[in-house]
Amino acid sequence: MLKKDLKVILETYGCQMNISDSETIIAIIQTAGYRFTKNIMEASIILINTCSIRENAEKKIFSRLQYFQSFKKKGYKFIIGLLGCMAQRMKETLIKEYYVDLVVGPGSYLMLPTLIELAINGEKTINTNLSYDELYRTIVSLKSQKTNIFRFVPIMSGCNNFCSYCIVPYTRGKEKSRDLKNIINEIQILKKIGCKEITLLGQNVNSFFNKKDSIYFHNLLELIALMVPDIRIRFTTSHPKDMSDKTLEIIAKYDNICKHIHLPVQSGSSKILRAMNRKYTREWYLQLISSIRNIIPEISISTDLLCGFPSETELDHQKTISLMREIKFDSAFTFKYSERPGTYAAKYLSDNIPEIIKIKRLNEIVDLQLRTSLLRNKEHIGKTTEILIEGFSKRSKENLFGRTSQNKLVFFKKNDQQYIGNKIMIKIEKASATALFGKSLI
Ligand code: SF4
Repeated sequence: MLKKDLKVILETYGCQMNISDSETIIAIIQTAGYRFTKNIMEASIILINTCSIRENAEKKIFSRLQYFQSFKKKGYKFIIGLLGCMAQRMKETLIKEYYVDLVVGPGSYLMLPTLIELAINGEKTINTNLSYDELYRTIVSLKSQKTNIFRFVPIMSGCNNFCSYCIVPYTRGKEKSRDLKNIINEIQILKKIGCKEITLLGQNVNSFFNKKDSIYFHNLLELIALMVPDIRIRFTTSHPKDMSDKTLEIIAKYDNICKHIHLPVQSGSSKILRAMNRKYTREWYLQLISSIRNIIPEISISTDLLCGFPSETELDHQKTISLMREIKFDSAFTFKYSERPGTYAAKYLSDNIPEIIKIKRLNEIVDLQLRTSLLRNKEHIGKTTEILIEGFSKRSKENLFGRTSQNKLVFFKKNDQQYIGNKIMIKIEKASATALFGKSLI
C-alpha cells in the first residue's frame, strides 16, 4: 500500500508546547507522504500526543485509548501510537500493559516516519531519546501552516528546576535552548507570511540562554522586538526566579512586546514553596511583583496555584489566600495536588491532605480569583484599548473577539471576516470575570 493511502488521525492534549509539537508532527508526517483524516473508519494510524502533567490529563488519554482499542476489537485495522510526555514517562508499560503499537517521546519526532513504518510491519516500536537538537534544526521548513496570524515559536525545551511535584524534567529532559540562527530564521519567515502575533515557547522560557553568542532571554526579546516591530510578541511560561529586571525593562521599552506575564506562584506559604522546591519564598515573590509593577505599570499578571500539597496546613492555605488578596492577579489557573508517579513528591512525601479538604481549598481559591478577576476587568470599563482580532465568537457569528496586549479577551459586535488579524481600537463598556465587552471605534 502507498503511504498516501495510509491516513493518520492525530489528537493533541496538554499545553501550548504540545500544540506546537503537533504542528511539527503534522508536517513531518505529511512530508513523508501520509495524509490526515478525522474519520476513524478510514484511519490506518492513530497518534495521540499526550500530556502527563496532571492525573486527570492521563485519565482522559487512557479513556481515548480504550475507545480506539474497542474499534480494534471489532476488527478495524490500525496502529495506535502514543507520543509526548506520557510516552516518555511510561515507555514499555504502554506496549506491555496497554497494547500500544508505537511509543515516541518528544525528542524523537523526526524519526516518526521510520518508526511508523516499523509499527505497520508489526514491530512494537519505542523511541524515547530526549535530544531536541535535530527537531529544532528543521522545524521551520517542516511546520504545518494552520494559521499564519498567531504562531508559536519554541525557543527552548526541558527544565532543570525539578519542582518536587512536576514530571516535566523527566519527560522533557534538561533545558536546551534553540540555536539563535534558527529562531531568527523562523521569525523572518513568519514575518513574510503575514504573522501578527508570535508566542515564544518554553517550559522555562525566560531561562533561555544561547551560550555560543552569549544571548540571554532579554537580549533575544529585544532582538525580536526590533526585527518585527509590527508583530506582537508574547512568551510563556516564565519561572519567577529567572525574571530579571533587564527582561522587565525590555518589556516596558517596546510597544510590540505584550504587557502580560504569566508567573506561576503555586503557593503563598514559604514552607510549602520550600517543599515544592520552587527556589523562592513568599516575600521574594511579593518583591518581584512589586518590581514588575514599578517597571511596567500597565502589566497584567496571571499565575498558577496548586493547593493540597503534602503537609499543607490550613494556615499555609490561608497564606495563599492572603497572597492572592495582596497581589490581585488578573487571572489564575488553579489546581489541586495529585501525585505524579516518578516525581520527588510521589517518592518521598505523603499525599496526606484528604480529598475533601483539597476540594474545599480549591473552591475558596477559585471563588476569590473569580471575584478578583471581575474587579480587575471592571477597571477597564470606559477605557479605549487596542485589540488584535482573532476570530468569531463561538456563541454568535455577529460578534468578533480579540485580545488586548494585557491578554484580556474582548468581544464586540461586528460580523465581518475581513477584520480578523487586524488591530482595532475598542471602547470597553462591560466586564465579566473572564472577558471584556465593548464597541469598535471603526
Ligand atoms: S519549573 Fe517546575 S513546574 Fe515548571 S516545568 Fe520545571 S519542574 Fe515543572
